[in-house]
Amino acid sequence: MTTILEQGNISIHTENIFPIIKKWLYSDHEIFLRELVSNAVDALQKLSMVSRSGEFSGELGESEIVITIDKANKSLAISDTGIGMTADEIKKYINQVAFSSAEEFVQKYQASSDQQIIGHFGLGFYSSFMVAKQVEIDTLSYKEGSQAVNWICDGSTEFKLSASERSTRGTTVKLHLQEEELEYLEPYRIRQLIKTYCDFLPFPIKLETLASEGQEATAPEQINRQKAPWKESPSNLTKEDYLEFYRYLYPFQDEPLLWVHLNTDYPFVVNGILYFPKLKPDVDVSKGQIKLFCNQVFVSDNCEEVVPRFLLPLQGVIDSVDIPLNVSRSFLQSDRTVRRIADYIAKKVGDRLKELYRDDREAYIRSWQDLGTFVKFGSLNDDKFKKQVEEILIYRTTADLSKPKVEVETSEGDVWQEASNTIDGKTYTTLQEYLERNKERHENRVFYCTDEVTQATYVQLHTSQGLEVLFMDSFIDSHFVSFLEREYSHIKFSRVDAELDDTLIDKDKAEDIVDPNTNQTRGEQIKDLFLKALGKPKLTIRTEALKGDNAAPPAIVLLPEQLRRMQEMNALLQQQAMQFPEEHILLVNTAHPMIQNLMNLSQGAIVTGSAASPSAELADMICHHVYDLALMAQKGFDADGMKAFVERSNQVLTKLTERALN
Ligand code: ADP
Repeated sequence: MTTILEQGNISIHTENIFPIIKKWLYSDHEIFLRELVSNAVDALQKLSMVSRSGEFSGELGESEIVITIDKANKSLAISDTGIGMTADEIKKYINQVAFSSAEEFVQKYQASSDQQIIGHFGLGFYSSFMVAKQVEIDTLSYKEGSQAVNWICDGSTEFKLSASERSTRGTTVKLHLQEEELEYLEPYRIRQLIKTYCDFLPFPIKLETLASEGQEATAPEQINRQKAPWKESPSNLTKEDYLEFYRYLYPFQDEPLLWVHLNTDYPFVVNGILYFPKLKPDVDVSKGQIKLFCNQVFVSDNCEEVVPRFLLPLQGVIDSVDIPLNVSRSFLQSDRTVRRIADYIAKKVGDRLKELYRDDREAYIRSWQDLGTFVKFGSLNDDKFKKQVEEILIYRTTADLSKPKVEVETSEGDVWQEASNTIDGKTYTTLQEYLERNKERHENRVFYCTDEVTQATYVQLHTSQGLEVLFMDSFIDSHFVSFLEREYSHIKFSRVDAELDDTLIDKDKAEDIVDPNTNQTRGEQIKDLFLKALGKPKLTIRTEALKGDNAAPPAIVLLPEQLRRMQEMNALLQQQAMQFPEEHILLVNTAHPMIQNLMNLSQGAIVTGSAASPSAELADMICHHVYDLALMAQKGFDADGMKAFVERSNQVLTKLTERALN
């Protein structure tokens, strides 16, 4: 016969808080298991604390948590070998603390406008009543001579406390499940919940099932991973440990590019490991992928409020007891500690990138394609981060820097010997190094190209004259160039096809007077020729003698910077692809031998030895052809344009072969 020690009423202000909790947390009933297992972990940790302090000198025995499924009795039990409770402690901690904290939780929850409380923390022991019609605690305290006690409550404010026969130290919380909550008797469901919420708790969590109709009992089997690498010291972890953990968290994904281990105790506690993933084009960068933990207990998959926005594509784990969890998300965003934690994370990420840049330039450059987007996006969004990484923002360049040359002094006074910046034939430079290298030829001026393929002619034109060109060709770069212009207003950024630098033009040649009768320069004659042949009112024709002899093309199309930007802006506003503007410049290179021949041809003054007749028609066709070839570097043809181009090519070739035979 059990002795009833006490029967009584729990003093509580809200008469019955169940219906409220049940109603609001309808979809989150499953968190009861996380709460009960967390309590069991606390009980084990407290025991080891009192043991270390010498207050408890008995056998610690096996520190573990066992979850027992009893289908026959429709009950689920969570047992630990922890500190246990005396009758007085039950009265204090369960009747008073647990119930009043649940009450407080409900009040907060009712008060919060968006009711989006992260992880519903704070509900604690009381959450068991979300799934159980009756909860029973059977416990024996570690204190010498303690009497084991049994507490039963059906969730009303009434409870019954009696002496128990229990002889082993620890606590068992047994839930007699409600009919609509019997899913928690399925082993797969328990495994799933433990894997989600309790995988990294520092004690073995075992699952056993008792025999039931048609099913044999199964022995306790550990179902959590138990080790939480982010709680270890970074010096204890190898590269393989980090990679293994990543694969565990995100199976079937490419290896991460690098990782950052967060561990600080002051002024707030944050532990974690963040990974830079290889960015897939279809990844939704606005959705967080970092898992938020509190004391190794999983809280949320989405901690957009805690991580700076530009770091959302990072993956991994952040664990902090200093992030308030029983508050609404909007409150979290404005919380001062949370803001400081976000700044700390951004700073650590910046530091890690700098370290990699300094210590392993090759890895840095190899990862840049993926990293670059993060770093640029971060710089655009966060001024502190921008200041931190601006010296390690790199750009692919046409310069040959295969040998280390320059020593760079950073704003912090460190001198870096420039490491080899060439990987797989591609060379990278910082803006600072670019400006330094080129300051004699073009101070505070940067030439850049946004598409290596279509702008190849322009790039070649520049490099043939020794001008260095940077490639700004990733999707974020069009914004980034504008950003750089704002940030460094003393630097002029010129796209290679926007205008030609004076160094590319041979001024002397361009002004040769060739016709004493009309006083026309060669350039003026050629301009007339093209104007007549092409007859396009919106097209501007300009002539220049380009340096570089045959390396410079016979003609190029230029798109003035302002005009291009307006077009880009329009396209963006109307969400359309940018149309190539009709207003553009055809720059004809008067120094090119073909253009000179063309001029002679049109004037019927061709001097080939034989008396060929002048052919205005052929000259006209060639003008169109020169224009088409120049346009090709800017845009593709449509079907009609392509047809015309091919037809004309054949006509030109026919005429030329005829001439060659005559
Ligand atoms: P919290 O864990 O946030 O303090 P709970 O409502 O979950 O709130 O629990 C109230 C108290 O009951 C705990 O602080 C602890 O003292 C006691 N308690 C709960 N579960 C156990 C357990 N398994 N072993 C020992 N004590 C427990």
